[in-house]
Amino acid sequence: STNLSTLLMRFSEPETLKMAKLGRELRAKGIDVIDLSLGEPDFDTPQHIKEAAIKAINDNWSHYTPVSGYPDLKEAVCTKLKRDNNLDYKPENIIVSTGAKQTLANAILALVDEGDEVIIPTPYWVTYSELVKIARGHVVEINTTVEQSFKITPAQLEAAITSNTRVFLFSSPCNPSGAVYTKEELAALVKVFEKHPRITILSDEIYEYINFIGNHESIAQFPSIKDRVVVINGLSKGFAMTGWRLGYMAANTDIVKACEKLQGQFTSGTCSITQRAAIAALTGDLAPSRAMTAEFARRREKTMQLVNSIPGFKCFEPQGAFYVFPDVSAYYGKKFGNETIANSGDLSMFILNEAHVSSVMGDAFGEPNCIRFSFANSMENIEKAWERIKNALTKLN
Ligand code: PLP
Repeated sequence: STNLSTLLMRFSEPETLKMAKLGRELRAKGIDVIDLSLGEPDFDTPQHIKEAAIKAINDNWSHYTPVSGYPDLKEAVCTKLKRDNNLDYKPENIIVSTGAKQTLANAILALVDEGDEVIIPTPYWVTYSELVKIARGHVVEINTTVEQSFKITPAQLEAAITSNTRVFLFSSPCNPSGAVYTKEELAALVKVFEKHPRITILSDEIYEYINFIGNHESIAQFPSIKDRVVVINGLSKGFAMTGWRLGYMAANTDIVKACEKLQGQFTSGTCSITQRAAIAALTGDLAPSRAMTAEFARRREKTMQLVNSIPGFKCFEPQGAFYVFPDVSAYYGKKFGNETIANSGDLSMFILNEAHVSSVMGDAFGEPNCIRFSFANSMENIEKAWERIKNALTKLN
């Protein structure tokens, strides 16, 4: 067998993609699997954005792009950050990448050295911890529970910080929990960060538009720490553009230049057509995005009704993003025939095999008591899926 690098042993492949693959395999056997595992809007990209891309093709935007992005796209990102978040940045503070995933990878590789500690509240998006491992950093988790609305307290943050802490990394709205930090909650965390000037804060705001409780607040809005906040965002969720691959960062120029250096070797600038379309997305009409969020809000309401009708599932009502993340641990130790459901992985597999609904086990998000179910699926599928889950669970005793 081939001698592969030790790097590969340090991290795992995304659990979300693994589940999607298992679901596809069952579907290939003719089984009608409902996919509640994947994290993407089931909508089409808005028309005005598609037209900008078609025009870009016809206008021959076909050459290599500047590594950090077209200058007018970086201007468009600044315009967006001012319009939506009241944040002032210059184009030199911006770099666009091949998805927010690359933006995050750049940031972590730029900031984290071997042994550096990266604080990540649980539950967190699968990729965060794996990127830290790739960088040979050390993940320090702050655990949150349904009871505390999956949000950390300033005291928890203070207790997790050591002299080795280099980065704090979080998402609001949060994938998978749906927690959204208010301005007041962020202000309380900022007070802690003010005491620890070495820490850089990575703020993943990719679910910004999918917010059911009001205004999106960015931790970069606090002047005392703005220079060490890295705002990460992208087009995937808010504009239904997951396949187009565009993410962006706003940060101080040291960090942006470091990311440009990394990206220059890994990928170069992202797709020219996507970049032209991104200008239309970021500066254009937000009505299609708002309509998608309104539809997600309807599905969230329906999903909450259905989840709450399942005995033993304890579910926080998501304030943003498009997932529910119920605590399902009441089922651990139950039996299906001779098999024991020991953990979230077992229960998620049981639901896939018996209810034909795919989900993602909570261990993948650093939270072994929960399972993530998406509501980025049609109302009809959502109703059918939860009916099946409810029926399947009655087979356990
Ligand atoms: N951040 C979070 C919290 C996500 O859930 C995702 C996608 O699932 C991303 C970042 C990456 O988005 P993309 O690389 O598609 O821009």
